[in-house]
Amino acid sequence: MSLPTQNADHTIVIKIGGGEGIDPTALTNEIVELTQSGVRVVLVHGGSHETNQLAEALGHPTKTIVSPSGNQSRRTDRQTLDIFKMIYCGKVNKTVVEDLRKAGVDAVGLSGIDAGIWIGTRKSAIRAVEDGRTIVIRDDLSGRVESVDADFLNMILASGRVPVLTPPAITPDGIAINVDADRAAAATAKALGADELLLLSNVPGLLRDHTDMGSMIDVVDEERMPEAQEAAKGRMKNKVLAAQEAISGGVARVTIGSAGGERPIEHARAGGGTLFIQGVAK
Ligand code: ADP
Repeated sequence: MSLPTQNADHTIVIKIGGGEGIDPTALTNEIVELTQSGVRVVLVHGGSHETNQLAEALGHPTKTIVSPSGNQSRRTDRQTLDIFKMIYCGKVNKTVVEDLRKAGVDAVGLSGIDAGIWIGTRKSAIRAVEDGRTIVIRDDLSGRVESVDADFLNMILASGRVPVLTPPAITPDGIAINVDADRAAAATAKALGADELLLLSNVPGLLRDHTDMGSMIDVVDEERMPEAQEAAKGRMKNKVLAAQEAISGGVARVTIGSAGGERPIEHARAGGGTLFIQGVAK
């Protein structure tokens, strides 16, 4: 399998998950190579597992909200958002930047709050299923990214730097909100007119049956999108949604792939994951 062809300002947005066993610094060597070959790289990371651990240690364990359609999200009250910021904007972001800088990459770590890079709307009411009943939560500090400051990111990229981005995002009136990092990465890829979006996590790709590691779907085109949506359970639903949003926003290639292995970026770019493409595959 060959890598996609690259022109001078080829842009890749790479999102690495924060699930158990994922090490975002494992991408450092490949990011060095990509930047040296002139590729514009934006890295987006999560931090869910470490946030869960710290929340537990601080006596404020994570609660998961399940929407009536089965989408999962973190219940984000004020204290949870504070813990979330400690891990995402603090420990993980600064560790990734430190590692990249050690390897000679001019990395800049920023959250979506900084400079208002990710502006979003807060959900004023969330419907959640609890013990079989649907309840409405009104004080959650979560939402979704509506706009991305592409000019600011392009300025950083034009100066030869690698932005390392992480939630939260911020509302127009200055309230920090927890947003899904996969969908924020998709919005970023769309706003930058990126050529590729890689969503790397702890599974090889989108599995037809999530209990069978051998059941990976290779390619998802427009016709197979409903099948992909059907296959995605739990937290994978947001990844498929993110892939769909990026594809319909003009990103030519979106890959859901593994963050593990020797060269996860090359592996994903060469087709070693689930590739989402525009239109209908020939
Ligand atoms: P990250 O935190 O790395 O972004 P998530 O944990 O949010 O990743 O999402 C990946 C998880 O989605 C997998 O570990 C797996 O348990 C779950 N999942 C549900 N359905 C599927 C599917 N069809 N294919 C692959 N993974 C799936």
